[in-house]
Amino acid sequence: MFELAKYTKELSELLDSADNILLISHINPDGDAIGSQLALYHYLNSKGKKAGMMCPNNLQEFLKWMDGSDKINVFIRKRKKCISLIESADLILMMDFNQPNRLGEAEEFVIRSSATKVIIDHHLEPKDFANLIISDPSSCSTSELVHEMVTLMNGGPFLNKSYSEDIYVGIITDTGNFEHGSYTGRTLRIIAGLLESGIDKDQLLNIVYNNFSADRMKLMGLALKERMTVLSEYRTAYISLTKKDLADFNHVKGDTEGFVNLPLSIKGINFSVLFIEKDNFVKLSFRSKGKFPVNEFASRYFTGGGHRNASGGEFYDTLENTIKYFLKVLEENADRLKNVF
Ligand code: 5GP
Ligand code: MN
Repeated sequence: MFELAKYTKELSELLDSADNILLISHINPDGDAIGSQLALYHYLNSKGKKAGMMCPNNLQEFLKWMDGSDKINVFIRKRKKCISLIESADLILMMDFNQPNRLGEAEEFVIRSSATKVIIDHHLEPKDFANLIISDPSSCSTSELVHEMVTLMNGGPFLNKSYSEDIYVGIITDTGNFEHGSYTGRTLRIIAGLLESGIDKDQLLNIVYNNFSADRMKLMGLALKERMTVLSEYRTAYISLTKKDLADFNHVKGDTEGFVNLPLSIKGINFSVLFIEKDNFVKLSFRSKGKFPVNEFASRYFTGGGHRNASGGEFYDTLENTIKYFLKVLEENADRLKNVF
């Protein structure tokens, strides 16, 4: 059982005694990473606590409208400033990740820093690289967890428009707008409060979900028509996209977001994989239904991790060899993929 009150008290004491707080979200930040980071930022600001913000690489376009997102320093773009932020921080809060390699190029600087480090996260099996690990895998999102802690610290709902938008975006991102099984009654009660606080949900949904180019739609068409392989005997389907495919459709960051979920809607498919060719490696995304743990699969074979039904990893070889290796390790899991419910 996650002890919310205990961890909130410990976090609150650390925040009270810190002079230089730095909030960090993970590489390729999604709506939950940025949402939880900005939510805490807005809350701290309201209490007169200044906090710096950093993330390892660029934000996707559809997150740049969020109030305060322009104050997030991107490590690969402002190295010097970010290193100085890390070195001068006495409290570093890491949001929505639990493995140090999710810090990207900032990893060595954060690890070396003498600041007190806190992880606030909801992924399984956190690595021990912080002084305090606030980890609740029963939360659908880090934003949900942050919201519960902020509500406790505030002694009641923190009513602030930007904050409410942050939490809402975080929750809809990590639940696929309430399509994935990770949300609970607790989540919906939080959403009820956010809606009653006056957020414009239709506008937010439109910004988050209806913000793609026509080229992205066509790339999805190619992915489904030409690049998907269905392995019914393994209850598995995968999509592989080459660098050229992406270039042909003027790919921008975030365009392939959601592709990995598509094959799961095929009857009988329990495991879906997306391979994306990068310069000297292949990025993999995994999704599953029921009991098949793709976080274990990702960490055992592809130096990755994540959640039971959504994870990712990478493999340093060609696309062709990565798929060959995948097919070999898939064979080892054939039995487990038959009965997932
Ligand atoms: P996505 O497939 O949407 O990129 O990621 C799904 C989930 O897996 C996210 O929760 C993300 O944090 C996790 N994930 C994706 N890629 C990696 C990776 O390379 N390493 C680890 N540890 N987790 C990953
Ligand atoms: Mn998350």
